[in-house]
Amino acid sequence: MSWWGDFKRNLPLLAELIFVGICYQIFRYTLRFPEDALFVLQCFLLFMVIATFIFVLIIRAYRRRHTSVGIYRLCEMVLNLDVPAFIWANDFSTLYTNQAMDEILGISESEDPGDSAVLLNSLFYKMGLTPRNAEETLSGKTVRSVLSEEGMSNRYISWSTTVMKQNRNGSLYFTIGYETTELMDAKQSLTAYAQELAASESRYALSMKLSGIGILLCESVHDVYYVSDEAKAFLGIDKNEISFSDFRMKLHPDDRVLFDDYLNQIRNAERTDASSKPRTLELRILAEPGKPYVWYSYHYHENLLYATGRPIIGGALIDITNEKLKDATIERLAFLDETTEIANRNKLMQEGELIYQRCRTMGAAYWIIVLDIDRFHIINDSAGYENGDKILRNFAKILSKYSMHNGFAARVSADNFVLIVPDYTEDGDDDLPVRTIERIRMDMSQQNVQDFHSLAVTCSAGFARIPTDGDSFTQALEHAEFALAMGKGELSYMMGYDATVHREIVSQSEMEKELSAAIANREFQLYYQPKVEIENKQIIGAEALIRWIKPDGTMVSPNIFIPIAERTGLISQISRFVLEEACAQNAIWQKKQLNPIVMSINFASGDFYQKHICESIRDVLADVGMESKWLELELTERLAMGDVDFTVQQMNALRDMGILLAMDDFGTGYSSLSYIQLLPLTLLKLDRSFIIEIETDTVAQEIVSAVIKIAKSMRIETIAEGVEFEGQAEILKRMGCDYIQGYLYGKPMPADEFERRLAAQTVKLEEL
Ligand code: C2E
Ligand code: MG
Ligand code: MG
Repeated sequence: MSWWGDFKRNLPLLAELIFVGICYQIFRYTLRFPEDALFVLQCFLLFMVIATFIFVLIIRAYRRRHTSVGIYRLCEMVLNLDVPAFIWANDFSTLYTNQAMDEILGISESEDPGDSAVLLNSLFYKMGLTPRNAEETLSGKTVRSVLSEEGMSNRYISWSTTVMKQNRNGSLYFTIGYETTELMDAKQSLTAYAQELAASESRYALSMKLSGIGILLCESVHDVYYVSDEAKAFLGIDKNEISFSDFRMKLHPDDRVLFDDYLNQIRNAERTDASSKPRTLELRILAEPGKPYVWYSYHYHENLLYATGRPIIGGALIDITNEKLKDATIERLAFLDETTEIANRNKLMQEGELIYQRCRTMGAAYWIIVLDIDRFHIINDSAGYENGDKILRNFAKILSKYSMHNGFAARVSADNFVLIVPDYTEDGDDDLPVRTIERIRMDMSQQNVQDFHSLAVTCSAGFARIPTDGDSFTQALEHAEFALAMGKGELSYMMGYDATVHREIVSQSEMEKELSAAIANREFQLYYQPKVEIENKQIIGAEALIRWIKPDGTMVSPNIFIPIAERTGLISQISRFVLEEACAQNAIWQKKQLNPIVMSINFASGDFYQKHICESIRDVLADVGMESKWLELELTERLAMGDVDFTVQQMNALRDMGILLAMDDFGTGYSSLSYIQLLPLTLLKLDRSFIIEIETDTVAQEIVSAVIKIAKSMRIETIAEGVEFEGQAEILKRMGCDYIQGYLYGKPMPADEFERRLAAQTVKLEEL
C-alpha cells in the first residue's frame, strides 16, 4: 500500500486535529478580552470543539460500521453468482469463493476450504498468475487464463478485479471471471476459417494467374460484366467491371455480330433449369489501340445466383491465339495449293459443301466451272517447268478475279481448276458460265501476249449448276467434270452438263461391263421367229434372234446390247455363238425329220468384214452337219454400203459356198435399188416401217409394190417384216410378196416351242 493511500485514509483525522488546533489558538486569543464575554465565547468554542470531536467519532464509527456491512453483503452476492468470483485480501489472509469458483479450485461442498493462502496460491497458479503480479489485475487489465484438465477441452476464463476495501491493514479485492470458452472456440474457428479462406483465395488467385484464365460474370438483368484481374489485363482496363457496349467495342468488327447473337440469346433465353449447357464463343479482343487483336475462347454457361436467385452468366476467357495460329498454319498446309496459293481440292470440297447447303436452304444458285488448260503437259515440256508453274499461277490469278464477289476458286490437280460463281438471277442465267469462260480466255490471251509470246495458252471448260445439277456438291462437281470430259481433249472446248446425255453414256458403259460378264456366264439364248410362205402360210424358215436373259430373269432387247457389243468388239463372240447355236439347232430339226427350213442369222458389220468368215462358217456347218443352202445371212444396208468392192467380193464368196444372202431392214438406209443390183442377194426384207401403215398409207403401198416388182425382175425374193394383221398380209399377197414374217404368224419363241410348231406343220403336210 502506498503512503498516498495512508494519507487519504487518515485525512479526516488530520482535518480534525487541525480544527482542534485552530480552536485552541482562538481560545488562547480570547483570554485577552473581558472576562464575561470571553467566558461565554470560550464555553461556546469549547463546546464546538467537543461537539466536532464527537461528530467525527460518530462519522468514523458509522463509516466503519457501514463498510463492514457492504463487504458482507457483497460476499453474499458473490456466493450467489453463477460465474466464478472470489473476494480476497492482498495479504492472502482472506478468501471468499462461490460455488463456480470452488469447481475451478476443485473443492467440493462438503470439503473444508482449508488455508486461504494455499487456496489463493493454487487459484493464481491456475489463473496463470503469480502472487506477485496478481495485483496487476487491479489496474483494470483483464487477465485470461486457460484451464486445462485431462480428458477435457480447455476452458478460457477472463478475470477482472476491483478494490473493495483498502486500509492500513491491507486491501480487499473482488475478482470475477467470465467464461469465454465458447467465444474463444468461435474465435479460433473463425481464425482457422479466415486463414483457410485467405489460403484458398490466394491459391485461387495463383491458379488464375498460372492458368491465364480471365473470368467474366454478368447478371442477366444488368448490362455489365464483372471481370477478374486476369480478364482486366486481357481487356486492358483498370476497373472491376465493363459495360456490354464497351466490351463490344473492344471486339474485332467481324466478331461483333457473333457477340450480338450471344446477347440476344442470353437476354431472350427461357430459363427453366438452374444451369444451362456450356457454350463457347471465339472472339478477337483488342486490349489497347495499336496492339494486335488477340484470340480468346469465351467458354460460358448460365447459373442461378444463390444470393439473388437471379440468373448469372459466367465464363472463362482463355487466350487461344497460339492455337489459332497453329490452326491457320495447318489450314494453310491442308487447304492451300503451294504453287498457285489458291485453295486446293480439300478446301474446295469443304467450301463447296457449304455453298451447296446454302443453295438448298436459302434458294441461292451457283455455277461450278471446271477448267483445264489445253495441252498443258506439252507446254510444260516445251516451255519448262518454271514457265509451266508461271502459267498455273497466272491462271489462278485470273480465276481469283472472278471468284472475288462471293465466288470461289481452287486448283484441283495439275492443270485442273474449279471456279464457283454465284447466279443472282431469279430464273437462272444460263449464259453466265459461257460469258465467264470467254472472259477468262480473253484474260489468258492478254497474259500470253505479256509473258509467252510463242505460246497460245487456251483452256477448256465444263460446267454445271448448283444445286439443280447434282444431289450433292460432289455430284455437281463430277457432272461439271463429265461435261468437260465430253470434249475428249478438243481445244477451247466448252460444254454444260446434260443429264440425258450423261444417263445414256453411264448406262452404256455399265452395260459394257455387264455384257462381257454375260458372255462368260453364257446368259444368251436364241429365239426363233417363223418366216412363212405368203400363199399357204407354211413355215419355210426361221430367223434366229438373240436374247440376253439376266440371272434375275430380265430380258434385254438386242436393239440395246447389239450396238454396244458392236462398238466394244464383243459382237464377234456373240455372233460366233449365234452361228453355232442356230446351225446346230437347225441340224437337230432336220435330223428329227421335220420339214427342212432355212435358218437366218443376223450379221453385224464386224462379222462380215472378217477375212476368214467363209472358212469359219464352213467349219461350223461341217461340225453340225448342215448343208449351206439351209443357212441365210441377213445383212443391213449400212453394212453393205461400207467398202463396196470388198462387200461384193465377200458376198460372192459366201454365195459360192451356197449360202443365202438377205438384205435386212430394206428401205431404212440410203441404198438404192440400182446399188442393190450389184450385190448377189437372194432375199430382200422390207422394213417393218413400210408395213405398219400399208393398209392406209398409199405412198407406202406404192413404194412396197414397186420394190417387190423390181426385186422380182432381179430374181430376188421378197419378205415383209413385222406383219401383224391379216389386212397387211392380204395387201402384200396382192402385191406379189413371197414371204411374211411377223407377230401374225408367230413372235420370236424358244427352240422347243418353235419345234412344236414345225412338227405340227410336218404332220399336216404328211397327211396331205
Ligand atoms: P431384225 O433383224 O430386223 O429383227 C426383226 C425384229 O423385229 C425382231 O426384233 C423381231 O422380234 C421384231 N419383229 C418381228 N415381227 C414383228 C412384229 O410383227 N411386230 C413388231 N413390233 N416387231 C416384230 P428383235 O428380236 O428385238 O431384234 C431386233 C434387232 O436386233 C434385229 O432386227 C437385229 O437387227 C438385231 N439382232 C437380233 N438378234 C441378233 C443377232 O443374233 N445378231 C445380230 N448381229 N443382230 C441381232
Ligand atoms: Mg434380221
Ligand atoms: Mg429387220
